[in-house]
Amino acid sequence: LLQLYQPLNFFGVVYREIKQSLTDIESLVTLLGVDREVADAPGAPALAVDGAELRFEGVEFGYDPRRPILKGVSFTVPAGKTVAIVGPSGAGKSTISRLLFRFYDVNAGRILIDGQNIRDVTQTSLRGAIGIVPQDTVLFNDTVFYNIAYGRAGASPAEVEQAARLAHIHEFVMGLPDGYQTMVGERGLKLSGGEKQRVAIARTILKNPAILLFDEATSALDTHTEREIQANLREVSRGRTTLVIAHRLSTVIDADEILVLDGGRVIERGRHAELLAAGGAYAALWTRQQDASQGVVPVAEALPEV
Ligand code: ADP
Ligand code: MG
Repeated sequence: LLQLYQPLNFFGVVYREIKQSLTDIESLVTLLGVDREVADAPGAPALAVDGAELRFEGVEFGYDPRRPILKGVSFTVPAGKTVAIVGPSGAGKSTISRLLFRFYDVNAGRILIDGQNIRDVTQTSLRGAIGIVPQDTVLFNDTVFYNIAYGRAGASPAEVEQAARLAHIHEFVMGLPDGYQTMVGERGLKLSGGEKQRVAIARTILKNPAILLFDEATSALDTHTEREIQANLREVSRGRTTLVIAHRLSTVIDADEILVLDGGRVIERGRHAELLAAGGAYAALWTRQQDASQGVVPVAEALPEV
């Protein structure tokens, strides 16, 4: 029985760790074979990325065709720009990121990257072009080196160090007892939320994706960590096409465009200041969130999420 139990338990731990980390969504897919929803078209070419303009055109989708979730969503993220999606829980925000990763095919409309329908290219090339910056990273019980190098198979120590420098974690790592060979994770050194995220950012930098997807976690963060994470995101997204799925509005202030999604439709769009001035749904969300952070309304109520 013990022999049977151990692999199961091992798998449970691995599954739990991977499930929590969006970075490892590809591993999860491979591991669990949950990928059967979609298949490569015969002879599909690889995605050819040139600047990485991302476009959703009239996208309609439902997990169950009888219950539509996205009801005609259109937006463009010009190459190198940042678009943020906000809206109440259940609006369909995370569904948009799942469709971009092509975990499911759309029921109508198209998703294009540099003019290529993501249905027509290989899934490997599509997912290779997208990097996920998780807010809440679960590190592997392994060395710092392993945790960063995981971003690209066969990365050299020099490349790992370069990525760590860009993610502003190199100095920190050099101060650890065993440097890059320091064990981290649940059974090793515990890193703070911001440090863990920097490790994840180094991983993403190593992967060097043309498109960044940031699906914000909903768990409460202390103000310091939240600021640190916002700064990290700003830096890594500079010059890359970035889609931010935001659960906290403080993350979206700098976005080139903000979309307010409600009931599977984009009900407002514009920049932060424009939307505030318009006094619509975004302004109302903003006011509620400000009140929540000042304790007028419980945060959980103002930000019902996931
Ligand atoms: P948001 O991220 O805006 O909170 P989601 O995109 O996660 O919303 O979910 C939108 C809707 O789709 C919700 O009603 C949710 O219950 C439903 N949904 C999400 N994932 C699945 C799934 N795997 N199967 C069926 N329904 C789902
Ligand atoms: Mg969500």
